[in-house]
Amino acid sequence: MENTGQAAAPAAGETRGFEAEVKQLLHLMIHSLYSNREIFLRELVSNASDAADRLRFEAVSEPALLDGDGELRITVEVDAGGRSITVCDNGIGMSREEAVRQLGTIARSGTGEFLQRLSGEQKKDANLIGQFGVGFYSSFIVADRVEVLSRRAGLPAEQGVLWSSDGQGEFTVAPAVVPGRGTRVTLHLREDAAEFAEPERVRSLIRKYSDHIAFPVRLASAPGEEPETVNEAQALWTRPRSEIADDEYRGFYRHIAHDFEDPLCWSHNRVEGRREYTSLLYIPACAPWDLWSRNASRGLKLYVRRVFIMDHVDQFLPLYLRFVRGILDSGDLTLNVSRELLQQDPLVDTIRGALTRRVLDMLERLAVDEPERYQVFWHEFGRVIKEGPAEDPGNREKIAGLLRFSSTASDEETRSLRDYLAARPEGQECIWYLAADSLAGARSSPHLEAFRKAGIEVLLLHDQIDEWLVGHLQSYDNVEFRDVRRGELDLGPAGEDKSDDGAGATPPEGLLDRLKAQYGERVETVRTTPRLTESPACLALGEHDLGRQLRRMMAASGQALPPVRPVLEVNPGHALIQQLASEQDEARFADLAELLLDQATLADGGDLVDPAQFVARLNRVLLTRTGTAG
Ligand code: ADP
Ligand code: MG
Repeated sequence: MENTGQAAAPAAGETRGFEAEVKQLLHLMIHSLYSNREIFLRELVSNASDAADRLRFEAVSEPALLDGDGELRITVEVDAGGRSITVCDNGIGMSREEAVRQLGTIARSGTGEFLQRLSGEQKKDANLIGQFGVGFYSSFIVADRVEVLSRRAGLPAEQGVLWSSDGQGEFTVAPAVVPGRGTRVTLHLREDAAEFAEPERVRSLIRKYSDHIAFPVRLASAPGEEPETVNEAQALWTRPRSEIADDEYRGFYRHIAHDFEDPLCWSHNRVEGRREYTSLLYIPACAPWDLWSRNASRGLKLYVRRVFIMDHVDQFLPLYLRFVRGILDSGDLTLNVSRELLQQDPLVDTIRGALTRRVLDMLERLAVDEPERYQVFWHEFGRVIKEGPAEDPGNREKIAGLLRFSSTASDEETRSLRDYLAARPEGQECIWYLAADSLAGARSSPHLEAFRKAGIEVLLLHDQIDEWLVGHLQSYDNVEFRDVRRGELDLGPAGEDKSDDGAGATPPEGLLDRLKAQYGERVETVRTTPRLTESPACLALGEHDLGRQLRRMMAASGQALPPVRPVLEVNPGHALIQQLASEQDEARFADLAELLLDQATLADGGDLVDPAQFVARLNRVLLTRTGTAG
């Protein structure tokens, strides 16, 4: 190991190996994040700012921790000659045990997953680093040795610690005398990373990444040089909206969300009067990796009168808005508020209601003003929003307004319910939908034939939870949802003049009874239908039968399901039906009738009870046909 003089481990030093996962992480990080390497500075400054936040919070109950030095600040020192950069803070600091635990092991459950998710796409990977909380290790992208000198606030100067490592597999910890509390992280830069010891380069990086940090970030351009403050150093949300540039809002978002992408939109509000609080809420442009994980970190950062209290507070927003990032600064909560206290405080419910509406309004505005960006939102978070009507019936109508569906009106674009209602022909009194397992399956469903003919739009619900969602919605703008598969089809006045051929034709004498006898208990009944113009037959659901998506959901959760007996509907105008009616040979009639039921089941996306028998029958029929033809 090279020796720069400062970091020779004293006698009492102890060398330890990194956890296996840390080693793997370091290796991957150094090799895959190379083109984003400047992020190390963001990570170190953000750790320093967290450390200052934590000290300020602990000092609320234990003022002695400040030890006469209450001016929290972060200092970056560069040394171009010595090719090093140092980030110092006078925050909470680390004890020896903390340094070993926090900087040598990864107790965080997400790390394994992080490693699996590294895709090799550098931009995305760099994004993950912050999300998984592995920020400190990014130092090794630019440094071949890192030294951390630290002392926990409240401990004497002799109980400091010096941690150092070359990032290869081991680190050393040794006792050190550290006069001031806090942490100094020194990076000995690799030869090709010398730019990060240049004052101008570093100044612009601090501006880029740390402007919104609520503590002064100062830069010393050379060893011994007097540092000067580079950033704004005022909590961004405390400034008036009119004075904050969009870029500052974006920078603040990247800081709190550890995201590289800009947010889609944000909403910054101060509430005054009986209740006092400020909120700054962001909609990200990308779903976090753990959006669907049960113990995902979510929620807002909570401040009380500008003092940081805790992270990931999920009490202030419902679960279906769990992707929202931001801060809440309350004037009414006490500084020693805990998660338990929050759970009991009625104030929390009031704020939660207000923030929920704020987010829904913000999304509504985005949808109207910037439909393309809204599509991005919908693509990333639409499935989460769909949980809303069930979780928050009070805002059902508002949430319904945010939903987007595929529909027969367009192959590419999704439709809002408002669009749907505006485009419906006069006399149509419901919102027609078709649920299927896939969009392609939905589009080719025989159930759409009559609707196409009558020019009536049908929403195509192909997401597993859509049927469940519609069950909770029931209606939008007082117009009810209706499944195109359900019951006997009545298109109302809108369908009248056009869909007459199927409905008008009379069924060949005795055919329906012959079919019923053939199917027996397997179908509820057999009837003719106006639903079809091209297909010979389809399956319909009874008024109260569960739809297939719902049956699937229930089956997946282990619930017993009542058997469904579908209704087989036939198109009397179809040549195949007429052929059936005139078929005298009983064996051939049976084959054709069974094929009719099976094909209706297949077109419905269902599974055949006996696929092999279906194939055998099909072949029999095909052979007699070729026989006749030849
Ligand atoms: P995260 O910040 O997401 O927890 P990091 O890898 O950036 O992950 O940091 C790991 C841990 O190391 C932090 O949680 C903190 O406990 C400790 N740490 C890092 N930098 C500092 C610092 N400047 N002061 C005090 N503790 C620090
Ligand atoms: Mg960090």
